[in-house]
Amino acid sequence: MPLAAVASPMQEFDFLVIGSGSGLDVANAMAGRGNSVAVVEKGRLGGTCLNRGCIPSKKLLYHAEVMETIEGAGAFEIDAEVTGVDFAEIVRKVNADVSGSSDSIRRGLRSSDSHDLFEGTGTFVDDRTVEIVDGDDEGATLRADTVLVATGTRPSIPPIDGIEDVDYLTSTEALRLETLPDRLVIVGGGYIAAELGHFFGTFGSDVTIVGRRENLLPEADEAVGEAFTDRYADRFDVYAGYEAVAADESDGEVTIEARPYPEVDSVRAGGEPVGSPEEADDVTVTGDTLLVAAGRRPNTDALNLAATGVETDERGFVETDEYLRTDADGVWALGDVVGEYLLKHSANHEAKAVVRNLLGDEPEPVDYSAMPFAVFASPEVAGVGARERDLREADAEYATRTYAYDETARGSAMHADGFVKVLIDLDGTIEGCHIIGPEASNLIEEVVVAMTAGSGTVADIREAVHIHPALSEVVDRAFSGQFSRGGGHDHQHHG
Ligand SMILES: Cc1cc2nc3c(=O)[nH]c(=O)nc-3n(C[C@H](O)[C@H](O)[C@H](O)COP(=O)(O)OP(=O)(O)OC[C@H]3O[C@@H](n4cnc5c(N)ncnc54)[C@H](O)[C@@H]3O)c2cc1C
Repeated sequence: MPLAAVASPMQEFDFLVIGSGSGLDVANAMAGRGNSVAVVEKGRLGGTCLNRGCIPSKKLLYHAEVMETIEGAGAFEIDAEVTGVDFAEIVRKVNADVSGSSDSIRRGLRSSDSHDLFEGTGTFVDDRTVEIVDGDDEGATLRADTVLVATGTRPSIPPIDGIEDVDYLTSTEALRLETLPDRLVIVGGGYIAAELGHFFGTFGSDVTIVGRRENLLPEADEAVGEAFTDRYADRFDVYAGYEAVAADESDGEVTIEARPYPEVDSVRAGGEPVGSPEEADDVTVTGDTLLVAAGRRPNTDALNLAATGVETDERGFVETDEYLRTDADGVWALGDVVGEYLLKHSANHEAKAVVRNLLGDEPEPVDYSAMPFAVFASPEVAGVGARERDLREADAEYATRTYAYDETARGSAMHADGFVKVLIDLDGTIEGCHIIGPEASNLIEEVVVAMTAGSGTVADIREAVHIHPALSEVVDRAFSGQFSRGGGHDHQHHG
């Protein structure tokens, strides 16, 4: 007699999370409070940041920093030469490291009394019932009082004619590439494109970048974006304001055709300004390797959210209220999949908020008021708060001041190129701060602290003693001199 398909019995939990990135922080907090917890994960434990995002990229990029330091030693009268780079070994070590961390999270969950790990794709059956539809735990049906959707994002591929017939990389594969490309074409001008371009470029690839917006790093303040694009145009073949429209591959040669993007004011071809998009011609760029780093899309398509009350926006990101509750009772969401800031520290910040709101009496909204970002390229970039164009668009009254690194003792010792740009309102409240130059990601932090834990005014920075002659003096000076109303640059010395 054939065995009848037996529906597996429903397993009940207090808390269930789909996705083991920042969702795991909430799972651990719930488990710590004695709740039974189910973790559903279809890929490697630890999510994007650990396995194919922040961690491997920053580990690889540090190798580029060491390389750049050695190659730049001549400017300090030090004769140094790189005599060999074991590129494959760099990539292997970094990836072995992250695999080890991911394996250890998996072992931890498997041996924990308070967590149950389900490996496979989770799909909703109804608001708080999730079925595992593939993988090791295929067929399991789980139900929980509280469910958290923390499924993240994956690379999105823009509609480029012929792209499906081209063997391209996304950031996921690029981080594992053990052979350095000779000629790398990158489609996309955001931070992932910028960081990977810097990594491969530093080790010797000829890099071509095709970005749709007028400047690379279009999310940065325009002064920073422009300075960054200038520096990249010196290093690489930069096409900014060009949209890739067609791709082709033959005999190992990849060709991208790009068209001036009508929504920008001016375009650059090969780094050179060529005027408005109407005046510019289409371009064709070629390489032996193509990397598509043109944005991310939410992992909501496999969740069968139609079976739930969870709503998504037109791009598929999960809609939540300011407490991170979705429209379905007892279902919460956080991280990339809510589409607020696609950054790990934002996902972690949201995880803390969800824990607070699940365990506390009064729900508290997530505070996004000082969410910083950093780009670990060369030059390094970081920013927090409003950009000048945000203030202009809001018709706000504001003042700004820019201070160059090389006007400080440490900046000059380092031959550092770059600046700190501050935006304040007319009462001295900090609206935003934008940095391009060495250690930007560290320098921004005191401004974040001032904006979140201090009075949020220039006084927080001005009244704090800054170590002399540390690089942080560039932040101090940017906040301490004469500001100009609504634009203009002020490089005057102070003190
Ligand atoms: C190349 C790169 C570099 C980056 N660098 C930085 C950086 O320097 N700093 C920074 O702040 N951020 C960086 N990020 C962004 C950062 O990685 C993300 O913001 C962060 O990982 C988001 O965390 P999350 O928990 O929301 O989602 P994720 O970490 O993506 O976790 C979601 C998990 O859910 C799983 N999943 C999805 N759907 C299902 C399903 N149906 N069933 C079961 N499991 C499912 C996925 O497999 C995944 O493991 C980078 C990203 C990339 C790609």
